[in-house]
Amino acid sequence: MAITRVRLHRQLHPFRRGGYAMHYGSVAGEESFVVALEDDSGITGYGEVAMLDGRYSEAFPAGVPAGVGFLAPTLLGLDATDPAAVAGAMDHELLGQAYIKTAVDIAAWDAAGKARNVPLCALTGGTPGEAVALYDVVTAGGSDDEAVALALDLLARGFRRLQVKVGGDPAADAARLRRVRSAVPGDVVLFADANTGFGLDDARAFLAATADLDFTFEQPCATIDECAALRDACPHPLVLDESITTLEDLRRAHRDAGADGVTIKLGRVGGITPAVAIRDEAVALGMTVTVEAIGGASIGTAAFTHLAVGVPAPLRCHTVDFHRWWTADNGTGMPAAVDGAQSPPTGPGLGIAVDEAALGAPILDVVA
Ligand SMILES: [Mg+2]
Repeated sequence: MAITRVRLHRQLHPFRRGGYAMHYGSVAGEESFVVALEDDSGITGYGEVAMLDGRYSEAFPAGVPAGVGFLAPTLLGLDATDPAAVAGAMDHELLGQAYIKTAVDIAAWDAAGKARNVPLCALTGGTPGEAVALYDVVTAGGSDDEAVALALDLLARGFRRLQVKVGGDPAADAARLRRVRSAVPGDVVLFADANTGFGLDDARAFLAATADLDFTFEQPCATIDECAALRDACPHPLVLDESITTLEDLRRAHRDAGADGVTIKLGRVGGITPAVAIRDEAVALGMTVTVEAIGGASIGTAAFTHLAVGVPAPLRCHTVDFHRWWTADNGTGMPAAVDGAQSPPTGPGLGIAVDEAALGAPILDVVA
């Protein structure tokens, strides 16, 4: 079970839509990194971490090859199927840098599932065959008419949960949310996600202009303290995303900001090992939980979908079908969505048949 080879592959994933706009601007695609851990029993575990440009998160694409290259000598010889040992060794050698460790951690969990011949969800508290609702996004930019048209197109494609990007001009964002809210049936779940974009005054103005609308407010401001200051003015469920990086962040969000829910992104917290801890603490606190990622194709999407179905149904919020968002992929085997919900694959580990040809030649290849 000893790791004998560490490979790192890089892929570019252009958005099928041609771009993706949040309050700070638009991006054309994402940069993805796939780690393969090969062991001496013939198992290969795969993991993926993907990131947008430098404006979205503290993840620098060029840092991944540098960081994985730094960690690779430590990984050689470890038990690929022991995620706790792999995570512990990475944390010992390199403080923080969660995004660098993410794909390695996922690969160890994939190897663990393959060694035990069980799907990843069964190793992490879930039940194979269960599903999690999917959301899709009404992006920022464009006219209100275009936002409504996009919302209706997403409903026609089976989605019943929409996230409307806000966090820019509060009056314009409020008007846009109002247009979308009135254009979709009342049972469609709407999130207004500011991605940290509002200052406190702007968030208060947005809330005042939308007080009569039914929606959940996601990450209005950049910090937990600002979101806490906003809490009394927010009559809607409050979900924190970007400001949750650690277990302590989660506890503070619950205690100080009265957060009703959390969005856990694997690439921000460092992979499956920390995500499971944050997920299970959130459940213990009675918070709703979304498990997803900053991006990723089939490998990454399989990973967070396995974790999402481990959230007990009453607190299971939603996730995203990122493997359908790009013009490139890195595997097959994600089940088709049914009634706006996604199940993880049922095969061992991630359950994905990785497309090695699509990955291309490794950009890093370290052999024992
Ligand atoms: Mg969000």
